[in-house]
Amino acid sequence: MSDSSNRQIVIFDTTLRDGEQSPGASMNLAEKMEVAQTLVELGVDVIEAGFPIASPGDFEAVTEIAKNIRGSVICGLSRCRNADIDRAWEAVQHAQQPRIHVFLATSAIHREHKLNMGKDEIIARAVEGVSRAASYCPNVEFSPEDAARTEHDFLCRVVEATIDAGATTVNIPDTVGYATPSEMHKVISLLRNRVPNIDKTVLSVHCHNDLGMAVANSLAAVEAGAGQVECTINGIGERAGNCSLEEVVMALRTRNDFFKADTRIATQRLVLASRLVSAVTGIQVQRNKAIVGQNAFAHEAGIHQDGMLKERTTYEIMRPEDVGCAKTDLVLGKHSGRAALADRAKDLGYDLSGEQLVTVFEQFKVLADKKKDIYDGDITSLIEQEILAVNELWSFSSYRVDTGTDRTPHVTLAIGRGQEQFSTEMACGDGPIDAIFLAIEKLTAVPMVCKDFQVHSVTVGNDAQGEVLVEVEHNDRIYRGRGVSTDSVEASAKAFLSAVNRIAAVTNGSATNNTADRQ
Ligand SMILES: [Zn+2]
Repeated sequence: MSDSSNRQIVIFDTTLRDGEQSPGASMNLAEKMEVAQTLVELGVDVIEAGFPIASPGDFEAVTEIAKNIRGSVICGLSRCRNADIDRAWEAVQHAQQPRIHVFLATSAIHREHKLNMGKDEIIARAVEGVSRAASYCPNVEFSPEDAARTEHDFLCRVVEATIDAGATTVNIPDTVGYATPSEMHKVISLLRNRVPNIDKTVLSVHCHNDLGMAVANSLAAVEAGAGQVECTINGIGERAGNCSLEEVVMALRTRNDFFKADTRIATQRLVLASRLVSAVTGIQVQRNKAIVGQNAFAHEAGIHQDGMLKERTTYEIMRPEDVGCAKTDLVLGKHSGRAALADRAKDLGYDLSGEQLVTVFEQFKVLADKKKDIYDGDITSLIEQEILAVNELWSFSSYRVDTGTDRTPHVTLAIGRGQEQFSTEMACGDGPIDAIFLAIEKLTAVPMVCKDFQVHSVTVGNDAQGEVLVEVEHNDRIYRGRGVSTDSVEASAKAFLSAVNRIAAVTNGSATNNTADRQ
């Protein structure tokens, strides 16, 4: 599909930094490690692991990823200040290939209102910051924040000066999602034509999706010569999010004839990565989302189906299996053995350790007693629960609710914290789920306001597992939780507990809490 004349575009993933800034998307350390490993297996070139100075949790996450994740460049974000740059280096220094990413706003509106600095001061500060980063590590990225709204002459001066100071990548962010594709094309062309030392750096883009143009803007930049695209899995990020990795990658792959550019991404792992990030952040992908949405490859209309049956290329520009969404009819059940489960897990893209397989198989047996057919969706959710349930503070044990139309629910709930068990019995709530919610609040002593509650089925059939997604507010912050079970009340209890676990992680400083940056 790709030939040697193709330019290789560097894929810089910022799911763990910019993506984590989506409200309620904070991830704990175990989740971040899992996402980072998935990104490596996906073939991402650069992983922006976090913003080390933002919080102790962020620092720890970047450090652990730098120490343990091999196969991609590990990058830490930093404002253009000595303490920030030093802290970023402290975290990424353990990586095989570390990168420091320094940013400083350059647009008039930021210079006047945020920084209160003149043009020459901005250039001096940028050069100082890049030089400091370059004194630590040879791989330095510089971003003139709000570049898309920066005067062209000034932008050229900043870029030239920072390349001279050692920026091996210069990233042009559209911080507020305001640019159009032709403007993005123009600014990249301008830099390539006017900055004399531009060949000494890789030009990059970082586009936000406020007007729905992040992917189009990134592609226009590639067409104009940009060599790196910054993006996130499922396009998550602040406000309307970032350029979506799966869309930009599949556009380059599918329209290779047009872009003459490709990436290192193992596209058949895209759906897996998308599912993992959804599960970890609790942010679901809309059904009609390009590439990874549930309907992306569904041909319902009769006229299309007829065309598909005769010749699939009539309506299909990509094959589902190219992005890892191959449908199988293989169903497991009560009598399936561990080897069959291991095989299925492998086909779904999971590489389970022996210990993980034992636990997942136990859970599989429990589930197979409750429902006849076990589908891929069931297996995926079992595995995700196993992989992601590491070091959770609270865990669900059992519940009982007696309720009816004309009576207050009577709930008995038991939950565990480590080896300890806690239980309560109370009459409360508007229904069984409300009663469970109140009992969890009482046992964990974490006050919450439930903001959103959704139930989906994981697979098909009356005995399908229910997936419950909740959004709760605690101390003015939003936290998400997710629970899966064949019983929707139990799934709700698990979802609320997973939200409590996130709150606990943030409160005790082990999770990240980065809200300072808007790059
Ligand atoms: Zn951003």
